[in-house]
Amino acid sequence: MNFISTRGNVGAIGFIDSILMGLADDGGLLVPAQIPQLSQDTLTQWSKLPYEELAVELFALYMGDDIPRDDLKALVHDSYSTFRDPEVTPVRAIGDREYVLELFHGPTFAFKDIALQFLGNLYGYVSRQRGTVINILGATSGDTGASAIEGVRGKEGIRICILHPNGKVSKVQELQMTTVHDENVLNLSVEGNFDDCQRIIKELFADVEFKQRHHLRAINSINIARILAQTVYYFYAYFQIAKDGRDAKINFSVPTGNFGDIFAGYLAKKMGLPIGKLILATNENNILERFVTEGVYEPGEFRSTHSPSMDIQIASNFERYLYYLYMEDPQAVTELMNRFKTEGRIVIPADKLQTVQADFAAYGVGNDECLDTIGKVKRESDYLLDPHTACGVAASSKRSESGEITVTLATAHPAKFDESIRLTGIEQQFPEQIEALFEKPQYQTLVGGSNAEIAEQLEKFF
Ligand SMILES: *Cc1c(COP(=O)(O)O)cnc(C)c1O
Repeated sequence: MNFISTRGNVGAIGFIDSILMGLADDGGLLVPAQIPQLSQDTLTQWSKLPYEELAVELFALYMGDDIPRDDLKALVHDSYSTFRDPEVTPVRAIGDREYVLELFHGPTFAFKDIALQFLGNLYGYVSRQRGTVINILGATSGDTGASAIEGVRGKEGIRICILHPNGKVSKVQELQMTTVHDENVLNLSVEGNFDDCQRIIKELFADVEFKQRHHLRAINSINIARILAQTVYYFYAYFQIAKDGRDAKINFSVPTGNFGDIFAGYLAKKMGLPIGKLILATNENNILERFVTEGVYEPGEFRSTHSPSMDIQIASNFERYLYYLYMEDPQAVTELMNRFKTEGRIVIPADKLQTVQADFAAYGVGNDECLDTIGKVKRESDYLLDPHTACGVAASSKRSESGEITVTLATAHPAKFDESIRLTGIEQQFPEQIEALFEKPQYQTLVGGSNAEIAEQLEKFF
């Protein structure tokens, strides 16, 4: 399978070149040249597979030309045998027609492990195959950094530097990143907020000479490998529920920030999985909710919420969806994105809005509503949601059309966000792996927010 850019000026390139490119060179995002279409027979066969085998089948459709099947099998096994649950992503019922898909059984207790364990191993593989060094540079508001570090720590041929805003990630997130003591890991704790960290990274990547000299690679969610890894669990969850004879259309409610995870669901649907509605759950940063309900994509005012991994105004994967909404027309996407740059908004016409609403529903969940949902589900189902997942469950419960089954993606373990859980009056027991973090020494370098200071640290490290 080849990959092309949503803006039409890159391609067609193979899978490995696509993951190395990250953001497409023409400023667009990489998408598969054609989306594979699955027959009913294939779906039936896939429905019987355990998680790892399902992942290999799906990945082979997109990566088969670049990665021989045995290598793919080994990469998948190395990535998912680190998970604490034998099913990798088990489904649990929390009501008669309400399920959660637990995506937090990886090393850092958040769903990003599913993509980043795989991407870490993939980078290791590419480094060995091509004999090149891979230096990863990224910024995090919490979950991505911890997950990316776990994905590559101790791996030969790879180094990773992660910037996080000093004092502005949750305690557990900070400990997960900074208690790692491998030579190939550097944590920079930056005076400033997440936007400052992201801006620094962007500017360093834009310096082509610096980027090439240091073999810099990205790990953010625009990487196509991350999307593909996340597509697997939509299939897996669907098949588990259908096994109980409930094979009607199944909705998925997805706590959304950068539109990466929900785009993976859209891709699964386009491949032929009979998904009903994709319910886009946001917090008070509701640009995407407004897009689905009104057809206007325009950043609003930034709000800090209990679900910080969704505190996002500009959704970096949204362009991929626009590409399909506009019938894979790169010219149309380029015009829309240019208009967004100059006018700060995109408005779609009524017929396009109808198409959006055929696939998506959307709800923005307020801060109080998020905490109330955590309390309610704990009381009624004895199940503790994290605040991101709670947004998903709250969104799902607003859409109570009779007979529908909805699966909410549980994107993090509640222990990661204890500061917010405590506000509901609930006390939780931490898993032992998280408890143990509080005893470990931390390794991080505190730096100011200037590019020069960061570049100097990188010169030393890389
Ligand atoms: C990253 C993250 C999200 C948002 O995922 P996107 O792919 O950016 O939409 C939701 N919940 C948690 C816990 C996350 O870490």
